[in-house]
Amino acid sequence: MRRIYHTGMTTLSGGNLSIREDNGDIWITPAGVDKGKLTPGDIMCIRAGGAVEGPHRPSSEYPFHRAIYAHRPDLRAIVHAHSPALVTFSIARQVPQTNIIPQAQRVCGPVGYAPYALPGSEQLGQAIAATFAQGYNVVLLENHGVAVGGPDLLTAFQRLETLDFCARTLLKARGLGEISTLTEEQLSLLDQQHSLPPEFVPTSHCSRERELRLQIVEIVHRACDRSLMISTEGVASARIDEHSFLITPTGLDRRSLEIEDIVLIKDGCREQGKLPSRSVHLHQAIYDRHPAIGSVMTAQSPNALAYAISPQRFDTKSIPESYILLRDVPVVPYGAQFQRPNEIAAALSAETPVLLIRNDAVLTTGATLMQAFDRLEVAEFSARALLDTLTIGQLVPIGDQEIEALKAKFL
Ligand SMILES: [Zn+2]
Repeated sequence: MRRIYHTGMTTLSGGNLSIREDNGDIWITPAGVDKGKLTPGDIMCIRAGGAVEGPHRPSSEYPFHRAIYAHRPDLRAIVHAHSPALVTFSIARQVPQTNIIPQAQRVCGPVGYAPYALPGSEQLGQAIAATFAQGYNVVLLENHGVAVGGPDLLTAFQRLETLDFCARTLLKARGLGEISTLTEEQLSLLDQQHSLPPEFVPTSHCSRERELRLQIVEIVHRACDRSLMISTEGVASARIDEHSFLITPTGLDRRSLEIEDIVLIKDGCREQGKLPSRSVHLHQAIYDRHPAIGSVMTAQSPNALAYAISPQRFDTKSIPESYILLRDVPVVPYGAQFQRPNEIAAALSAETPVLLIRNDAVLTTGATLMQAFDRLEVAEFSARALLDTLTIGQLVPIGDQEIEALKAKFL
C-alpha cells in the first residue's frame, strides 16, 4: 500500500488491498486510515466464519473483494486503486491498450470492464466479480478506477503498475497521432528470442565489479523513484573490462533488486544459476562494437516512450541541454532488438548516443552508468516538455545556425 501511495496511484484515503489465506481468512486494509502511513497492525482480518478482528473498520469496498474471491479461488490478492491515468480512461469509458510494448500485455493479460455501481454496494461487488469470473485478472471500473487480482500481492501490484504505465504513456502519445500497436506475431518474438548464454562459474570478483554492482542497484532504484522504470520494466548494464559486463536479471521486481541479483557476463557466458535480462544479446552487441561505451540502459519512461509508439519525431533541437546530451534521436524498427542486435549497435555512435526502439524502449548509452542515466533523465524531461507544449502553443525549435554554434562550443 505504501508503494501504491508513493508511486502516486492512490490518495491518502483512496484505494484498498487484501490477501486471502488458505483457511479463507481475508486480510484487508482499514477504512479511514492514512494510506501513506499504514503499519502491519492496522490491517484488518475477516475470519472465514465472518468475525472481524483489528483496531479499525475494514475497507468499505470489502464486499467486492469478497465477491471476487468467491468467484476466483485461484486469486490470493486483490488491489484496488484510483490512479489518475486509469481514472481518466474509466471516465472516458475506454480500456487502455497494453499491446504498445512487448512485456505489458504479458504482465496484465486482457483487461476487463465493469459497469458503474455505487461504491461499497453489493451491486458493485457483483458487477466486478462477474467480470473476474470471465477470467480477467485486471478490470477497469467504469467512472471509478481499477481492480486487479493475482496469485500473490506482488503480482497484483505489478499488474496494476504496468497498466497504469500503459495508461500514462497513451495519454502522452495520443496527442502525437495514431498509436502503433504490436500484433500477436510481433509479441511472440519476445518468447522466441530468449536463448540463454552458456553458464560459467566465476572464480573471483574484482573490486571494480563489486563497485559496479552497487552502482547498478542504486541507479535502478533511483530510476524507479524518478518514474523512469517500473517494477516490471527497465534494464541497466555496465562494462567491467573488454571481456565482461554486468546486467540486471530478467523478471525480478526492480524495486527489490539487490547486489547479488546482478548477473556477470564474461566472454559471452553468464554467471552460473542466474538469468540475465532478455536484452543481454543487445547489450553484448553494443559493448562488442563500441569500446568507449561503459554503460547501456534500456528503459520505458512514459514521455520518451510516447515518441516510440506514435508517428512524430522526437525533436531534440529545442533546448541546448536536450541537443548536447541526446543529439538526434533515431527510431529503430521493432524486432531488431531480438533478431538483429548488431543493427542497433551499428546505429549507435559518438554522435548518436541515444535511440528509440519502436514499441519497446528508449535506449541510452554513456561512458559511465551516471552518463547513461543522465541521458535517460534528459530524454524523459525533454520529451515531457515537448509534449506539454502541445497544450499551450506551437513548439519553436532552435535554428540550424544555433545548433552549429552548440556543436562548435560543446561537442
Ligand atoms: Zn474505489
